[in-house]
Amino acid sequence: MSLPVTDTSSGAGTRQVDTLIIGSGFAGLGAAIRLARAGKDFLVLERGHDVGGTWRDNTYPGAACDVPSNLYSYSFALNPEWTRSFSPQPEIQAYIESVADRYDVRRRIEFGCEVKSAHWNTTTHRWDVTTDHGDISARVVVSAVGALCEPSLPDITGIENFQGEIFHSARWNHDADLAGKRVAVIGTGASAIQIVPAIAGKVAHLDVYQRTAPWVMPRADREYTPVERFAFRHVPGFQRLSRALQYVTRETQVVGLAKAPVFLKPLELAARAHIRRQIRDRELRRKVTPNFQIGCKRMLISNNYYPALARPNVDLITDGIAEVTADGIVTRDGTVRKVDAIIVATGFHVTDSPTFAGIFGKDGRSLADVFDATGMQGYKGSAVAGFPNMFFLVGPNTGLGHTSMVYMIESQLNYVTDAIRTIDSHRIGTIEVREDSQSEYNRSLQDALRTSVWSNGGCASWYLDKHGNNTTLWPGFTFEFRRITKEFDLAAYRSVAAADLPPVPVTVESAPAPATPKKTRTPRKAAAK
Ligand code: NAP
Repeated sequence: MSLPVTDTSSGAGTRQVDTLIIGSGFAGLGAAIRLARAGKDFLVLERGHDVGGTWRDNTYPGAACDVPSNLYSYSFALNPEWTRSFSPQPEIQAYIESVADRYDVRRRIEFGCEVKSAHWNTTTHRWDVTTDHGDISARVVVSAVGALCEPSLPDITGIENFQGEIFHSARWNHDADLAGKRVAVIGTGASAIQIVPAIAGKVAHLDVYQRTAPWVMPRADREYTPVERFAFRHVPGFQRLSRALQYVTRETQVVGLAKAPVFLKPLELAARAHIRRQIRDRELRRKVTPNFQIGCKRMLISNNYYPALARPNVDLITDGIAEVTADGIVTRDGTVRKVDAIIVATGFHVTDSPTFAGIFGKDGRSLADVFDATGMQGYKGSAVAGFPNMFFLVGPNTGLGHTSMVYMIESQLNYVTDAIRTIDSHRIGTIEVREDSQSEYNRSLQDALRTSVWSNGGCASWYLDKHGNNTTLWPGFTFEFRRITKEFDLAAYRSVAAADLPPVPVTVESAPAPATPKKTRTPRKAAAK
């Protein structure tokens, strides 16, 4: 157990924190719970005013999960309260909040505190973190900011001049009354296909601007029966069995997605049949039929998207957008369509998140600069060479298209919790993944991805970075990731024992707190590498 060196009082001067977790979505909250259980000393910073991350922020009408409910929870906190087989956003947010309460970690989260920057200090061997609540010096930082947190706004000529309501799907303006208005939705991704059916019946007219038609499958969504809900609550193992069956069923998709895309053909036939069943108009059928292999972009599920597009008050517009004017949208064929409101459902900065620009590693370069040069590379999604004593949750190549991210997050929690345990038990002062471990790991990832539909399916997606590499998705079965993250592999890292670090010079104005408590003796052999 690490000694409590965290001083969370927000008085003058720099606060000393042992482990600083940034973010309190599924990843950051999970880290807080795991570190609390391990008896570690930590503080969570959260820029929002509640836990939940992307599920707190995405409150758009129709927001719901496309992973089955029983699979979409922490393994240590199953939720017998789910009311449907696919949960709507409010239920997921309520679940996350209830977990924070049950594990009593809210008191260790500082809400409304935004991290501005984090610099590795080569003198103190700690992270200097600047926040809007003052400065913090942290021994270890765990970045749990998530991949889907920074809305990506489209770079469309004139969009800043639009005079009506305009907002991003992840920043829904609930004060804007869309009833009876002419509304445009830009984008046809996972968010848009939930928004369109939710608002189509309320607005006077809806223009849906599609750049690329997505593959949409039927959504096997239904209310749980009272018997099922009783069984989730009272029959030992019933919910866990349901979860296991969902896990195995979903995992079979990996064969087609990552290894042999030919096995995705049955899914494509099902998606084509879905179009034929739900849309009569030939022209609309043509417009919604994708021109790339299913799975290349995230497969979407909906039973009401196509019927919404077929409504008389909805137009699917496939001519590219030329510009936005003060009161409408002009497409490249010159057509002007006036609108009162624009909903921008254009996704998130994933491979180019602005948060990367504020993290500066040991050679002074930002994570953004490092990723710009090499692509978003890391080691087991949890560490990046040049960024000592920093761990990432939902880092490079940990994303999924087919199953629950919570499973991947829990795998990373095993790894990062064990890393912190190892740092403490070996009295390590600084630890950094070795460049050769990281390069070798990425070589094997990219090799594995070569056969995937994401690389060969003929689409452009946010899975790929500007170098054309897939730096977002895990290329195999998720149980393989669970296996490689089961334990922290110290041999892949370069570490320096706390006792071997050069002493921190004491200045007259400030005397930084020691990185590790002085009283502990350091077994140098174990830590030096
Ligand atoms: P997204 O999947 O990235 O989709 C963005 C959409 O906007 C795409 O249709 C894209 O077209 C379009 N677009 C982007 N820039 C544009 C531009 N300049 N002009 C016109 N169209 C533009 O974003 P999202 O729908 O918000 O979903 C993001 C991720 O969030 C999903 O992949 C999923 O992981 C997650 N999500 C999950 C759920 C769930 O049910 N669990 C629900 C919502 C979101 P192109 O296809 O041509 O790029």
